[in-house]
Amino acid sequence: MSQIKKVRGFQDIYGREAEKYRFVVDTARDIFGRYNFQEIILPFVEEVSLFERSVGEETDIVQKEMYVFEDRGGRKLALRPEGTASVVRAYIENGLYAKGGYQKLFYEGAMFRYERPQAGRYRQFHQIGAEIFGVSSPLADAELIKMVREILDRLNIEARLEINTLGDFESRKRYTEKLKEYLKDREEQLCEDCKRRLERNPLRVLDCKVEGCKEAVGNAPLLSQFLSEESKERFEKVKEYLDALGVDYTVNPSLVRGLDYYTDTVFEFVSDKIGAQGTVAAGGRYDNLVKELGGPDTPALGFAAGVERLMLLVEKLPEEKPLVSVIPVKEDYNLKALGTARDLRSKGVRTELILKEGSLKSRMKTAGKMGSKFVVFVSDRLELKDMETGSQEEVGNTESLIGLLEEKGVI
Ligand code: ATP
Ligand code: MG
Repeated sequence: MSQIKKVRGFQDIYGREAEKYRFVVDTARDIFGRYNFQEIILPFVEEVSLFERSVGEETDIVQKEMYVFEDRGGRKLALRPEGTASVVRAYIENGLYAKGGYQKLFYEGAMFRYERPQAGRYRQFHQIGAEIFGVSSPLADAELIKMVREILDRLNIEARLEINTLGDFESRKRYTEKLKEYLKDREEQLCEDCKRRLERNPLRVLDCKVEGCKEAVGNAPLLSQFLSEESKERFEKVKEYLDALGVDYTVNPSLVRGLDYYTDTVFEFVSDKIGAQGTVAAGGRYDNLVKELGGPDTPALGFAAGVERLMLLVEKLPEEKPLVSVIPVKEDYNLKALGTARDLRSKGVRTELILKEGSLKSRMKTAGKMGSKFVVFVSDRLELKDMETGSQEEVGNTESLIGLLEEKGVI
């Protein structure tokens, strides 16, 4: 029979990789909690138009990367390629803005993009992300960036931080006009996609990965020359707060990000250790998006990090609890062994009751293969064997066994 294989660009995550996955996500969740973010669990499927209207019709994500399909009811749907659009949709649809104050939400989960699979780039990948709604203070920008830095620090991941400002809507409009003029003179050099973008969204040309386009934009005017005083001051504040928090950064004036919805602050955390796919986390402000998607005028900002890319950079996992295996020396002691395993588990010990049948010797071997640090032999008495040193100690009952495990630092 022919064997069924997983789909190209999709992955099974198991064993140590699954532990890494958990470590990354749990660490992020812990930090989100400390910063008082609440979880939002979002659907995997949205209407295509949500992403067209938020991420942008001229972006790579919408043009080339989305998994789009029609359901049996004829709806045009997409597997979500990113999280922010869904959070904003949910924020508006559920009237979260009416709760007063401001909202801080985080999410985790799978995203789907039809890209060329390679190290650190998959068609299903996972993101952790967070969004803040209803705050325009630059304090929020600084805190969000600091929070990402803290997640990376806790994972022991080095990544440099690049920041930039795209300015407010007005600054961007003025800049876009100038950029268009500049690019019009170099239209011949641009790829087909960019020729179209030139009319509809010239800013996207700056983000194009095609060599000719990269060359063409080499000497393009910089957005920074078109910023309003207000935007400049805002950016100065963000930098001042980051300085105060001891968060290092470099300003990269050509950082524009691949999604249309950003305004003012944008940032990326980049690692040099994982080749071309170096961006591990990215985000920024998107003060117009809530309104554009039909909600009240609400400033907002957020970030997303790629879990698989973070996993590539995690070297050390926290030590797992030592495994204690319970082996009844013969079948007559199965009932007693069930009780012993139950008692150890109730004390929080990671316990394996060796389930396989066979000779005592073969079950001992199995316990070794399962990675046991200790084995408890169950007969009329209990014996604790240290698998590393081979030393064996006898105890009368479960209570003294637990006492012994406490002494050895297992409990
Ligand atoms: P890139 O420039 O690497 O394509 P992007 O700008 O498309 O990234 P975002 O949409 O900002 O990425 O997503 C945030 C993060 O999600 C990225 O920084 C990256 O860590 C991760 N990510 C994006 N696409 C993929 C993918 N196909 N596979 C794995 N991780 C991804
Ligand atoms: Mg991309």
